[in-house]
Parts: sequence; structure tokens; C-alpha cells
Amino acid sequence: MEKKKIAEKIVEGIRQLNLNLKIMHVCGTHQDTIVRYGLGDLLRKCGIEVIQGPGCPVCVTTPLEIEKGIRLAEKGITLATFGDMIRVPSRNRTLEKIRAKGGKVKIVYSISDALKIAEKEEVVFFAVGFETTAPSTAVTILNEPKNFYVLSCHRYIPPALDALLGLGEVRIDGIICPGHVSTIIGMKPYIPIAKKYKIPHVIAGFEPLDVLLAVYMIAKQVDEGRYDVENEYIRCVRYDGNEKAKKILNEVFEPVSAKWRGFPEIEKSKMEIKKEFEEYDAEKIYEDLLEDIEEPEEPKGCRCGDVLRGVIYPQQCPLFGKICNPSNPVGPCMVSIEGACNIEYKYGKMYLNNDRNKNWNN
Ligand code: SF4
Repeated sequence: MEKKKIAEKIVEGIRQLNLNLKIMHVCGTHQDTIVRYGLGDLLRKCGIEVIQGPGCPVCVTTPLEIEKGIRLAEKGITLATFGDMIRVPSRNRTLEKIRAKGGKVKIVYSISDALKIAEKEEVVFFAVGFETTAPSTAVTILNEPKNFYVLSCHRYIPPALDALLGLGEVRIDGIICPGHVSTIIGMKPYIPIAKKYKIPHVIAGFEPLDVLLAVYMIAKQVDEGRYDVENEYIRCVRYDGNEKAKKILNEVFEPVSAKWRGFPEIEKSKMEIKKEFEEYDAEKIYEDLLEDIEEPEEPKGCRCGDVLRGVIYPQQCPLFGKICNPSNPVGPCMVSIEGACNIEYKYGKMYLNNDRNKNWNN
């Protein structure tokens, strides 16, 4: 059967359940699929609202962590990081601006690019990302690299889900779990959260059909009064995840409590480099340069925190599209290609003639 027909069949299945649901996902790639293919509008017509939570690693990195990266670069340390990070503003400056003034800030596409830099000079890898990207950082540390240090901002997704549902600010009837992260962690970590809050969880892939099917699976669970963890992404995600990657993560990192942008401290949610590997930990190596940094204020008027908790849609931020746009981002959600504001700005104009505007506040 062609994809369009399958999609129509799934949407019809959702429509027939005749439910009114609010579903959250925590993945920039899911948001891209939902907005790019107009699934949000399609589902809204079936009574289903899908919102993005804290699923963009650049966006959830705190102002304090950004400030630490900036401090190292300002002090002449070579800093390697992914492209989006260099444009996140902090106190009216960015790593990009520091680079323009001669700072040694290097954009890398993977950790192996950063290792190449370490062949010539000392480098700090400013590491962001969830359980998907952290294993490559862990493997690199286990390989005992020379001239190489890590400023770890890696995070665990399940504690953030727990914290978000615990806050209870937004009605959430189901969670679409991130496919990439779940290839590593599997299904088990979501089970206690689903039980605690009595909310269905479905792991989903990234094709439009994956997302539609995950929404149908959640709706079906709600209809039947279940709150299980189910796996739509069976072509990639196993029940136990990737045992080898999990072992490597546990070997190098330990979970510590930490803030996420827009959130209070979340228990056991950040990957801190274990003491036995502290010779690679930039927080320890450059402790004297970093110890006096104070947490900067969020940029004035920016509501990234509310966007990340699903409390508002990007368009409800008063700066969206006026002062804040991808050429002049005020907050990280407009910088990152996985940020809800960036995605909405990029694709939102494609749907100007439909009824999405009047539904935003419903
Ligand atoms: S539109 Fe800009 S200022 Fe507003 S929440 Fe998004 S990134 Fe922050």
C-alpha cells in the first residue's frame, strides 16, 4: 500500500477513537517531522495536540554551562563544539563573536574531528547531547586521548520526563519517546514513569508514518485505559537497548543532579565524568578558570524555558519572529536546528493559509 493511503488509514483510526488528547514528544527530529509535514494541523483536526518538550540538547544546556564554554574560549583555550552551540547568546556575546575576535573556537561535526585537533594542540570538547551522542564521548575518554578534555553537558532523558510530568504544569495524556535515545536505553527506563503518572509512552521513529502510528498507539491505550510502554520503532529499538553502549556510558559517567534550561534541578539527570577519568574532565583541569562564574540571567523577554516545558508554543513568545529569528536568535530554541522556535520559524510560513493560528491557544 502506498504511504499516503497508509497515513489516511492511520488518521482515520485516530479520528474514529474520537478523543481529545495532548501528547508530548522530547525530540527535535520529531518536531521537524511534525511541523515540516504538517502533521500538527492534521492531528489537531482529529482532536490531538502534539507539543515539544525538552528534547533539544543545545536548548536545554544551561546559561551557566554556556558561560563556562565562553570563559574557556575567552582565556585562549581551544574549544571544539558543534555548530549550533557557537551561536547561543550569553550576556550579549557568543562563541561565534569570540572566534571573530581571534578566539580559538572550532566547529566540529563529530568528536573525531575534535580528536584531530588534539593531535596538534590541547583542546576542550564542549560536549552536549543525550544518551545517543554520549557513548562516543565515553569511548573517546576510554581510549585515553592526549591533549583532550571534555566539558560534559550530556544529559539523561528519562529523569527529565519524570521531572516534567511531576511539575504538572501542562496536561499531558501521552508521551512519544525519542527513537534515537531509545536505541541506546531501550524500553525499560520509561516503565516506572509510565506507571507513576499513568501515562502511555510510545517509542517512535522519525518518518511521518512513524509519528502518526505512535499517536494512534497512544490514543488506543488511552481509549482502553492502559498506560504501557510500547515500541513503534521496532526496526531499530530493542527492549534492552544497546547493552554495550550502556556499559560504556556507566563506566565513564555517573548521574548527578543538575539544572536544565527552564527547569529546576533534576535529580540524576546530568552525565558527570567519574573521578577515575578526571584527567579528561575540563571542569577539573580548568577549575581555577571556571570556579567564580555566576549563572547569567536568561536573555530579556526570552521564553525558551516555557517553550522547553511545553507551557507555550514558540509563537506565543512576544519576541518570536519580531526581534528573534534565525539570523538574530535571542534564545537557544531559535539557534538550534532542533529547537522548537527555529523549526516553527523555518516551516511555519508554509502553513499560513490554514487554521493553525486560531488553534494555538485552545
Ligand atoms: S522566540 Fe526567541 S526569545 Fe522567544 S522563546 Fe523562542 S528563542 Fe526564546
